[in-house]
Amino acid sequence: MSARRNIEVPDLVAAARAGLEDSRSVRAVARLISLVEEASPRLREVMRALAPYVGHAQVIGITGAPGVGKSTTTNALVRELRAAGRRVAVLAVDPSSPFSGGALLGDRIRMTDHASDPGVFIRSMASRGHLGGLSWSTPQAIRVLDGAGFDVVLVETVGVGQSEVEIAGLADTTLVLLAPGMGDGIQAAKAGILEIGDLYVVNKADRDGAAKVRRDLRSALALAARSEHAWRPPVLMVTAQRHQGLEDLAAEIEEHRAWLEESGALAARRARRAREEVEAIAVAALRSRWELQGRDRLDELASAVATGTMDPYAAADELLG
Ligand code: GDP
Repeated sequence: MSARRNIEVPDLVAAARAGLEDSRSVRAVARLISLVEEASPRLREVMRALAPYVGHAQVIGITGAPGVGKSTTTNALVRELRAAGRRVAVLAVDPSSPFSGGALLGDRIRMTDHASDPGVFIRSMASRGHLGGLSWSTPQAIRVLDGAGFDVVLVETVGVGQSEVEIAGLADTTLVLLAPGMGDGIQAAKAGILEIGDLYVVNKADRDGAAKVRRDLRSALALAARSEHAWRPPVLMVTAQRHQGLEDLAAEIEEHRAWLEESGALAARRARRAREEVEAIAVAALRSRWELQGRDRLDELASAVATGTMDPYAAADELLG
C-alpha cells in the first residue's frame, strides 16, 4: 500500500495514458479509479493533470431493470465496438451497494469474452458509502477513463431506482433496456425512463412478448413530454445473447452521436455533466468542512432547531460560517 502511494500523480497519469497494451497502464488506470472510489485528497492533482486530455471519449450509459440483459448487451456491444477498432472502457456502477469492488460486480458482468483483449478495460464501482456516493464518483471515474484515452466509455448501472437513471443520464447517449416477461407496463412507467432514453432497446427479441413491449413502449413514448424534441428515440429489437441486432444498435448510437454534434446538444450535455460534477464536489467539500467541526455541532444545531431555540436559517448560517 505505502509503496503504491509513493507513485507521483504525474507518473500515474502518464502511465495511464500509455495505452492498455502496456500492463502498467492497466494498473495505473485501475489505481486512478480507486482514488476516485476512496475520495482521495490526491484527486485534486489527478484531475488537474488530466484536464488537458478530457473531452474525447464517447460516453454511453446503459440502464434498465435487473435481468433485462444489461450485462449481456454491454458485452455484445463491446464486441461490436472492438470490431470497429475502438478502445473501450466499461464502468459498472451499483447505486444500491455500499460495498466496494471488483469481485462483486466483476463476477456479475459476463465479460469473459474480453478478458484477454488489451483494448478493453472493465471496472466495477460501488459507492462505499462515502459522501455524495456514486453521483459524486461516477462522473469523476468517467473523467479518468476519458483522460486515459479511451474512445468509448460504457457506463452500465445496476439495479432500479432514480439514482441510476441519473447516473445514466450523465452520458452522451443513454440506452434504456427493456425485455419481455418483466412486468412490461411497469417497466416503461419507471421513474424517468421515458425521459432519459436516447435509444430504447427491447432485448430478448427471441422471446414471446417482445413485439408487445415495443408496441407499448412506442405508445408511451409518443405520449411522453420530452425536452429535446428534435431527436426521436428509436426502439430497437435485440437478441444480445445471440449477438443479433447489435450492428443496428451500433449504427443508431453513431446516428445519435452525429445528431448530438450537429445540434449542439453534445456541448450542452457535457456542460450539464460538468455542472453536476462541480456541484457534487462543492457539496462534499462543504459537508466535510462541517465534519471537521464535528458531527456533534450539526447535532447540537439540529436539536436547537427542533426544540425551537434556534431557527433553521440561523443554524445553517452558523454551519456555513
Ligand atoms: P442484467 O441483470 O440486466 O445485467 O441482465 P443479464 O445480462 O445478466 O441477463 C439476465 C438473463 O437474461 C441472463 O440469464 C441472460 O442469459 C438472459 N439473456 C440476456 N440476453 C438475452 C437474450 O437476448 N435472449 C434471451 N432469451 N435471454 C437473454
